[in-house]
Formats: sequence, structure tokens, C-alpha cells
Amino acid sequence: MLRLYNTMTRSVDEFTPLSGNKVGLYTCGLTVYNYAHIGNLRTYIFEDLLKRTLIRCGYDVNHVMNITDVGHLTSDADTGEDKMEAGARREGKTAWEIAEFFQGQFVKDMELLNLLPPTTWCKATDHICEQIDQIKKLEEKGYTYTAGDGIYFDTSKLSDYGKLARLDIDGLRAGARIEVVEGKRNLTDFALWKFSPEGSQRQMEWDSPWGVGFPGWHIECSTMAIKYLGERLDIHCGGIDHVPVHHTNEIAQAEIALGHEWVNWWMHGEFLTFGSADDGDQAKMSKSTGGFITLDTLIERGIDPLAYRYFCMGAHYRQQLAFTWEALDGAASAYKKLTRAALDLKASYSGDQQPIANHLEQFDSAIEEDLNMPRALAAMWGAVKDDSAKPGDIYATLLEMDQVLGLGIADAAEEELDIPEERIDQLIAERTEARANKNFARSDEIRDELTAMGITLEDKPEGTIWRRS
Ligand code: AMP
Ligand code: ZN
Repeated sequence: MLRLYNTMTRSVDEFTPLSGNKVGLYTCGLTVYNYAHIGNLRTYIFEDLLKRTLIRCGYDVNHVMNITDVGHLTSDADTGEDKMEAGARREGKTAWEIAEFFQGQFVKDMELLNLLPPTTWCKATDHICEQIDQIKKLEEKGYTYTAGDGIYFDTSKLSDYGKLARLDIDGLRAGARIEVVEGKRNLTDFALWKFSPEGSQRQMEWDSPWGVGFPGWHIECSTMAIKYLGERLDIHCGGIDHVPVHHTNEIAQAEIALGHEWVNWWMHGEFLTFGSADDGDQAKMSKSTGGFITLDTLIERGIDPLAYRYFCMGAHYRQQLAFTWEALDGAASAYKKLTRAALDLKASYSGDQQPIANHLEQFDSAIEEDLNMPRALAAMWGAVKDDSAKPGDIYATLLEMDQVLGLGIADAAEEELDIPEERIDQLIAERTEARANKNFARSDEIRDELTAMGITLEDKPEGTIWRRS
């Protein structure tokens, strides 16, 4: 029995699809004005674990992911610049060029992280007509008005606006001091269509019944989700930041356009936070503030992308996860131990062995309890360390678990375990510093990590030397 947390009900309940064993899944994709940072990627890893769990539970998953390539403004209050136009200026390219480039990079990151591709990719700029049609529907039903710079949705006409986030609308209004957009009636109203600014030429703009401009960010997701997944959707996912604005507004416009409830299950991944545990700064990592870490940054430091996937599984998806290099190094060394163990076990595997039932049951009960990946990893290690089991059977168990874990167990190869020399030197420097600071726990940890990777250290008066054992 699969139990999942639903942000709408704030409870973990038994999941049942709307129809038969088919599950429609919509995940909000990347805004392609820059590389994905590892925070974005944490959300996509969570969504991949959800999808793989659904598949393991026997569901037929129809997964749609959008690419936001227009209309996502730098401020959630419908002000500021379009991130795509700003990104194009930064790169000295066109908005269309950077969209294509960063989408390609995102797909590459997904492959490196073993994220299963969606059944359907869809881009906002390929669905302008559909978005205009959707806005027309809202207009016909009397939910729109024109304010200075665009067509807005009147949220005061909905009795249940903000139900997902449980927004305190009266409190929000009372706290509002400035009218950010001239003519905007309510603080929570949001743009459906923005007019191109007078006196400057936008790169991405289209004709519409209301004038030349571009669609607001929220309308793209609800329009494309309805187009590809129908009028009722099983699961809609995103990062936790989407709850109060993006998904709240998607619900408002979709349910008015459709005339009924839209999404059965809302699921949100908590943030990866950035800043060391001891400086108390757990600021969100954000592309718009610059200085962010990408998957390539990790690869340059010799860290396998799948070690990052492993790292993310160390925390429940509804818990914040603090990123530190030390924590990631710890996960990377555990991941190395796992691939080495898998390789040893593989030698006894002929293809005929069966997974060990009790370990697999523990694993399944963990993932089926709202994707409890820390417990699932513990079940996986329980199998690896089971002295009473036959190595070939353990390997068969790992292969089965890896359908959900996606850690590349079957592909683990000897040469991939060879750690690059720069990484060894880096770890030795870190160990020397730890020893100088009398942090012997950390220095022992690094020695163990290197030993697990087949590197022996020798401390000499002139420094530490190493050799492959
Ligand atoms: P964006 O490109 O801004 O639309 O974001 C892509 C996805 O990443 C969305 O689902 C966001 O909710 C999610 N996201 C953004 N920042 C973080 C973070 N620091 N940790 C986890 N997810 C994030
Ligand atoms: Zn979205």
C-alpha cells in the first residue's frame, strides 16, 4: 500500500489513482535562463524517486514536464524583468539561444543523475495559442481585468483562493503597504498576460486579443497540464516555494476554467539550503542571487553525480537538507563503498539468483511510507552487510532495489572507482588541515574513505604520501 503526503490535506494517506492503474504526473520544469543548481536538482531527484516508486507499485505513469522559456519574472509579485530576457543579456545571446542551450544542459544533468525522462516534454513558447485560449475562457467567465501592464486574474472572486497554502488572505491584505502594479485590485491578483513594455523591444512577444505581449508564468503550467493530462490530474509536484504563489495561482485559474476541482494530489520537495551548519546561515540557494553550485561544479571536484543523488536520499524529501562539502564528501565515500561492494558481489551473480524477500520487504515498506529514502537506504545496507546471505542473492536484491534508487548498481565498473589524482591530493590537504586543527575524527574519516577507494596513506616528516594498493 502506497502512502503519500498531500500538501492540500496536510496528511499522509493511501494513494489511489483517479482511474485504473494509470497515474498522470505533472512536474514543474526548469526556467532555462541558466544552469540548474543542485537545489533545483534535489527537487527533480525527489520527483524521480516518486515516479520510480509509482512504477514499482505497478502504476502506469504518464509524466509531463514543462520547460519555462518565457514569462517567469524576477519577482513573484509580477514585477521585475523576464528571467529569460535578463539571462540573454547576461550571456550576450538571444533568449531563444539560451533557452535551447540551458534546456540541453538540463537534459544532460538529468541523464547523469539517472532521472527517467518524462513521457512528454513541453515548452511554454510552443503553447502560446493554448494559453491565450485559456485566458479567453477566464475572461468569458468574468474573472479577468486589465491593469496598467497586463491582464490580471481577480482572486477576490474565488471563495477558496489560497486553499493549498492556507493563505491568510485578510492578514495579507492588511499587511500590504504598496500597490506594486498600478490598477491591480488585490495583492494576490496575478498576471495572465503582460503587455510588451512601451519604448523597448522584447525578444519574445506575440499578438493576442489584448495586445502584443507574453503569457504570465502560472498560466503555462495549468494550460499544458490540462492539454497533455486531461481535466483531472493525479499528482502535481514542485519545490516547496511553489506552494504560496505558483501552484496557488495554477489552481485558481485551472479550477475556474474547468469548473471543477483539478488535482488529486499535491506533492512538494523541501529546499536544499546553502551555508555551513555552524554559521547558522541556511539561506536558500538561488540562481537569481548568483553564486550557485551546479552538477558540473561537483564533477570538477571529482564527485560522481550519482553520489549527489545518494546524498539527497539521506534526508526525507519533506525535510530541509543543508548542503555542506563535508556532508557531500561523506555521502560520496558511502556511495563508493556501495559500488565497490556491488562489484564484489557481482562476481558471484549468474543471473539466476532471486532477491532476498525480507530485505526487499523492508525496502518496499520504506518507500511506500511516503518515500522514506533514509530508511530505504538502511534496508539496502542491511542486505549488503547480511553475512548469512549468499553474495549472488544479495546482488539480485540490490539490482531490484536499484530500480527505485537509480544508483547505477548494474553499471558499477572497476575503472569508475579509480579516484582522480587531483581528488586524492585535495582530500590529503583536507586531512592535513583537519589534523592541524586536532579534528582527528575527520582526519580518520578521510583516511578510511581513501582506504575504501584502494588508496594507502603514509605520513612522513616531509608530508603525507599515497599509493594505490
Ligand atoms: P525554477 O527553475 O526556478 O522554476 O525552479 C525549478 C525547480 O527547482 C522548482 O520546482 C523549484 O521549486 C525548485 N527549487 C528551487 N530552488 C530550490 C532549492 N534550493 N532546493 C530545492 N528545490 C529548489
Ligand atoms: Zn509550474
